[in-house]
Amino acid sequence: MMDLKEQRKIKEEVIKYFVKAGIFLTSEEKKNKIQIVDYNTGNFYQMGLAMVAFVNVPRYCGKFIFFFPGQCCAEHWHPSIEDKPGKEETFRVLWGKVYAYGSGEPTKNIKAKIPKGREKYFTCRHEVILNPGDQYTVGLNEKHWWQADHDGVIALEVSSQSRDEYDLTTEDKLNTVIY
Ligand code: ZN
Repeated sequence: MMDLKEQRKIKEEVIKYFVKAGIFLTSEEKKNKIQIVDYNTGNFYQMGLAMVAFVNVPRYCGKFIFFFPGQCCAEHWHPSIEDKPGKEETFRVLWGKVYAYGSGEPTKNIKAKIPKGREKYFTCRHEVILNPGDQYTVGLNEKHWWQADHDGVIALEVSSQSRDEYDLTTEDKLNTVIY
């Protein structure tokens, strides 16, 4: 678990990256809208992310996604819930560089460094390298994961409604907490 002090420290760091990237966040967003996703692996800077949703309503969602240098998210997908299809999402890199993995032919010698001991939970090895202006769409129910390059990355995500609590991860024992 992450204490309040640590959460605050991380949020302060996230804000600095947005300033550096020239992406304006309102004071309300800085104060109340930065969310930290922690997978409770004991190393947030290796596995985790931050996000700022500026709209999330039943028919659509828009958010900024942030990864620290070298940080990755868990491989996951967005399942259908009852009669509602899972989330579809398109990412566009605004700042930094990211290695994105989804379905497709495995890439030889992927650039990402998978957290040690967790290789079997990162099954997608089809690599797409995204720089600012590049975008990537994740198909319905498609497994995917990302890792930022050495500067970190900020991306814009546009999607159908986001209900992160329903996301499924390949490593099913992760105890994901959103602060
Ligand atoms: Zn996703």
